[in-house]
Amino acid sequence: MTGRLDADVAVVGLGAMGAMSAWHLARTGASVLGFEQFGIAHDRGAAGGESRLFRMAYHEGPEYVPLLRRARELWWELAEASGRDLFIPTGCLSIGLPGLAPMVNVRRSVTEHDLEHEILGPDELAVRYPQHRLHDGEIGILDAAGGMLRPELAVLAAAQQAIALGARLHEHTAVRGIEPGNGGVTILTDDARYRVRRVVVTAGPWTGELVPAVAVTVKPIVLTWFAPADLPAYGPDRFPAFVRDTDGVHLFGCPVLDGMSVKCGFADVWEPLAGAQDLTRDLPDAALRPLSDAVRRFLPGLHPEPIRHNVYMDGYTPDRTAVVGVLPDAPSVVVLAGFSGHGFKMAPVFGAIAADLALEGGTPFGIARMSPARFAAAT
Ligand SMILES: Cc1cc2nc3c(=O)[nH]c(=O)nc-3n(C[C@H](O)[C@H](O)[C@H](O)COP(=O)(O)OP(=O)(O)OC[C@H]3O[C@@H](n4cnc5c(N)ncnc54)[C@H](O)[C@@H]3O)c2cc1C
Repeated sequence: MTGRLDADVAVVGLGAMGAMSAWHLARTGASVLGFEQFGIAHDRGAAGGESRLFRMAYHEGPEYVPLLRRARELWWELAEASGRDLFIPTGCLSIGLPGLAPMVNVRRSVTEHDLEHEILGPDELAVRYPQHRLHDGEIGILDAAGGMLRPELAVLAAAQQAIALGARLHEHTAVRGIEPGNGGVTILTDDARYRVRRVVVTAGPWTGELVPAVAVTVKPIVLTWFAPADLPAYGPDRFPAFVRDTDGVHLFGCPVLDGMSVKCGFADVWEPLAGAQDLTRDLPDAALRPLSDAVRRFLPGLHPEPIRHNVYMDGYTPDRTAVVGVLPDAPSVVVLAGFSGHGFKMAPVFGAIAADLALEGGTPFGIARMSPARFAAAT
């Protein structure tokens, strides 16, 4: 590569994956430049909304468990290094009929990977967790490694660790173009251009604007908060994070973290947007009705009108498997995108993978199914 280099690696987009990538890259001693179009730890993309579920017994399949194991270790490392309370270990309760595909995957995860868990039959589940109104035959699987993460704080913690290790992170600086060539990459912003050896693109729902070959579908996700009558019964010590599949309704939720309300949401039911720029937080009242109905049916101890709501978004792939790897036709460009509503919990391990890919060209983690070539071929 000819000419002056501004850094070994640039990270474009400092949300969940980008902040973790910058942290891991800086830990190796590489020189790192980072760019974020908004402020660090903003809540206008995929990493807002106060809490995220961490689950190790995985609805999406047991093949994720090795990544989840390493992610969990890294969450505690980041919490300790930053002195911030990033992980609240509540356990995670999966509820559903035992034959449902997600419940089968949860059971396979715990048996194939020997995860600490409890299987609660209908009677025991009703006694232990009376907050949930159950349907006949539903069981619970309590994943002991599960818990809650704090997304905005986590992004902030990772970015601050990266800065402490020497990374130069530019906030309020949108990247307008990424030009691979001449053995490196040129990064264009409104008022500067930078030359780096490799770039890690972690632009979340905006990825298609920078890397058209990875045009993830942008979907909003609405979060809603409901007030319990009996506040202590919904605290982290008595009400684990949960994921529930009943009658085609997929509901997830978190215990009270704000002193007054339980967060609930549906994944994967919201209509796609034309692009990230179309996100709106103004919702018609009718859009919240299905969530109120689900709360009325399944969590009768909560007042069924949300006391607040907000709208976030994530990039989705057709099979809900992320795109992680080096672009086949541009070896200096690493892309991590399309986390499809379930990537946050794995962000620290994906940050480590991004550093491996950018600095070594490969990683010991099993990510073959996430190859960008696969995604390009599928579109
Ligand atoms: C409401 C909601 C609930 C979720 N719940 C869970 C959960 O419980 N558990 C779980 O594991 N996952 C969950 N997820 C998924 C998880 O949060 C996402 O998969 C993850 O945050 C994706 O991270 P990302 O880095 O790809 O995107 P983001 O966190 O959005 O980061 C992308 C960043 O890139 C920046 N950017 C974009 N373009 C540019 C540019 N041109 N120049 C500079 N900066 C740019 C953006 O501003 C943004 O900061 C949820 C997602 C949502 C939306």
